[in-house]
Amino acid sequence: MSSDNKGETVLITGAAGFLGSHLCDRFIAEGFRVIGMDNLITGDLKNIEHLFGLEQFTFCHHDVTTFVHVPGPVDYILHFASPASPIDYLKIPIQTLKVGSLGTHNLLGLAKEKKARILIASTSEVYGDPLVHPQKETYYGNVNTIGPRGVYDEAKRFQESITMAYHRFHGLDTRIVRIFNTYGPRMRLNDGRVIPAFMGQALRGEDITVFGDGSQTRSFCYVDDQVEGIYRLLMSDYTDPVNIGNPNEISILDFAKEIVRLTGSDQKIVFNPLPQDDPMQRQPDITVAREVLGWEPKVERAEGMEKTYAYFKGLTQEELYRSEHKDFSAHNRH
Ligand code: UDP
Repeated sequence: MSSDNKGETVLITGAAGFLGSHLCDRFIAEGFRVIGMDNLITGDLKNIEHLFGLEQFTFCHHDVTTFVHVPGPVDYILHFASPASPIDYLKIPIQTLKVGSLGTHNLLGLAKEKKARILIASTSEVYGDPLVHPQKETYYGNVNTIGPRGVYDEAKRFQESITMAYHRFHGLDTRIVRIFNTYGPRMRLNDGRVIPAFMGQALRGEDITVFGDGSQTRSFCYVDDQVEGIYRLLMSDYTDPVNIGNPNEISILDFAKEIVRLTGSDQKIVFNPLPQDDPMQRQPDITVAREVLGWEPKVERAEGMEKTYAYFKGLTQEELYRSEHKDFSAHNRH
């Protein structure tokens, strides 16, 4: 890590969320001035409270779907504000659509005004339930626009389109990362995603709930690898979308068995109905990231899972309660 970026300012939206908070840590460590922005609907200040005493860090409580004003120069913008799990976007579908569309538009406008480079967080969900495997960036996807995931998938697809429009029409300096399933400390226990779900169940001594028959696959990337990929992409000259994820694919049933072994629990695995439009398989093709960024994941699943479980085990009772009970359903008024 170096500190030769002193004086440069980066605005990170979704700063109190899982990925946003890890990005704040990384950019602080690299010597940047960081402005963290969040409306705290799904995020939690606990994820960034260790930064509050630092002179290089400022927190701004703001909803990016309304006009975004930041005083002074901004050199980089990372747009990571969005709910990011199927359970969350079912609770706040309209906010999910707005942050990907209106929020992105506001941040692109800010980037243009400030002459900043902007990186937007896209997702493997743009590939929908993919008919091509593994997924290359050139695959156009198979998305149900009106299904429960459509609010996220289509917001992210629109986000990519408007970002490329600003790039082509206004010459804006843009980057697009397509993030595949990523895990690590600071995930919320009740966000519905499979890793916090299984780990929460292990902690509480409950059965492990596999959806469907568990034959669907995912490929899990540890957060430190993800952050490294994003950092390299931001600093590169590459303006087309880049997949960042771990190609090591596993079925959800095998993954549930791994969790039972890791947590040393004797939980039963039980089978619940498969949610609608749950993708059957997902694995990133990371050839572009390897060739353009010299990036590939380094953290094995066993090591990453151990670190993540240690984080959850280390939470105090109050923190556990907050992580398990965060409720934001009242935020979906418009
Ligand atoms: N899943 C599961 N049990 C759970 C939560 C999720 O079997 O308690 C499955 C889910 O159906 C999906 C996979 O795990 O096939 C990953 O789900 P997640 O919500 O983490 O992410 P996504 O589906 O967006 O990849």
